[in-house]
Amino acid sequence: MANENLYRVLASRFPKHLASPCMILADGRVWTYGDVQRASARMANLMLALGLQKGDRVAAQVEKTPEAMVLYLAAIRAGMVFLPLNPAYQRQEVEYFLCDATPGLFVCRPQARPLADEAAAKAGVKHVLELGDDGRGSLITSAAPHSDNFNTVQRKGDDLAAILYTSGTTGRSKGAMLTHRNLAVNALTLHEYWGFKPGDVLLHMLPIFHVHGLFIASHCALLKGSPMLFENKFDAARALQLLPQATVFMGVPTYYTRLLAEPGFTREHCRQMRLFISGSAPLLRENFDDFIDRTGHTILERYGMTEGAIFTSNPYGGERRGGTVGFPLPCTEVRIVDDAGMECAAEDIGNIQVRGGNVFAGYWQMPEKTREEFTADSWFKTGDMGKRDVDGYVSIIGRSKDLVITGGLNVYPKEIEERIDAITGVAESAIIGLPDADFGEAVTAVVVRARGATGTALTEASIISALRGEIASFKLPKRVFLVDDLPRNAMGKVQKNILRQRYSMQTSGS
Ligand code: AMP
Repeated sequence: MANENLYRVLASRFPKHLASPCMILADGRVWTYGDVQRASARMANLMLALGLQKGDRVAAQVEKTPEAMVLYLAAIRAGMVFLPLNPAYQRQEVEYFLCDATPGLFVCRPQARPLADEAAAKAGVKHVLELGDDGRGSLITSAAPHSDNFNTVQRKGDDLAAILYTSGTTGRSKGAMLTHRNLAVNALTLHEYWGFKPGDVLLHMLPIFHVHGLFIASHCALLKGSPMLFENKFDAARALQLLPQATVFMGVPTYYTRLLAEPGFTREHCRQMRLFISGSAPLLRENFDDFIDRTGHTILERYGMTEGAIFTSNPYGGERRGGTVGFPLPCTEVRIVDDAGMECAAEDIGNIQVRGGNVFAGYWQMPEKTREEFTADSWFKTGDMGKRDVDGYVSIIGRSKDLVITGGLNVYPKEIEERIDAITGVAESAIIGLPDADFGEAVTAVVVRARGATGTALTEASIISALRGEIASFKLPKRVFLVDDLPRNAMGKVQKNILRQRYSMQTSGS
């Protein structure tokens, strides 16, 4: 039987010359593909020596380092299920994840050891090892005596490779189970679709506790045996230093906003660049347009989620259409249906559903929730609303739970946000619904002023009057709050739940 272990798929494409660079670090150190193979073998051997069995979970709450990347590769290579955790998670969150996923090994930062031990004891986790932000720790010293060789463990395509907890905003966070096939199918499709080729250099500044940095970016580079400029985090000034050595960059929309805010950012930085990709949250239209003017590059926007990595992408070769997320990938079917499950006509807004080899296997230990989120014919209900234009380009309108229903009428936040964003002096905006005795929900706008904007000052009244006559009156915001920033999570998503909480308190008190 063929071994469908994802590590085998990745390693089969590693360069023949194993001394080729895989991860190039800020301090000049280089991890070659050979180093990655040997270090992942040592860690995989250690996992087996600890008594871990195929399918056991390996949880890691560590900083982004090459060793952390290798830990991921070692876990899948040894047939374990990798469970990355955001280093920002606090005691209660860590306890929940460990108790829910019951890993056999938990790798933590040394400074979090006391907390990790407590959580591990509660969850019955047998082994806790440390990996520091400098890449040292008991994980490394314990792995050091082990062999540099390891036969990648036999896995079937539908065996689990990873569990990623979704950043749920309500109720319990759900563990999305991703199989070796899910990850391999998406990685193989993407590196073709985005034209990865010899000579590519990926500027990798994303975190690796999320699908975007851990799977989407890294897998594309690994499948081509390409080097990654492996940076601990995004920093716009540092990006300007590194872009001239790179050919591909992947980022969340905030990274693009910050790059554009650098006055010195010009075409010169991008002379070698082949491709800029954006995803994980909607790219501001203004940033899409400004980026073309400043760099001559058209950002390629794509759409996906933890439950299957990427579903749609603008084309590499054809027209990349701003405000859209392009077409379904060859590995994914996408349909847009109304609430009765009927396919929507072009331009009609509906619920986005997906099906395909990359779509996840369900939520860890939540069979009920899994059943609810899939249709009888195996389509996954993404919870996103969207539409297709007449040419087949898909646009995301937003999460269905963010839809505002006012006086029984639907208001799609994106439509109003786009209009507000176009008003002079506005940087960006978020539309939320707040409880209202008359309307059920009241359309409410939270608006960020553009930095250094000159001219007439923005006010609640000026924004409402700019919208009046442009949109139906039931869509007009009842209130407008002017702010300096919108709350965002680590992946750049606007946290509308926080806005709803903040302003429903203010308005209920007013
Ligand atoms: P996550 O599981 O954290 O990756 O979040 C996935 C969600 O991010 C999706 O369900 C969408 O709501 C949103 N998302 C991802 N990419 C885009 C995009 N290009 N435009 C708009 N929303 C996006």
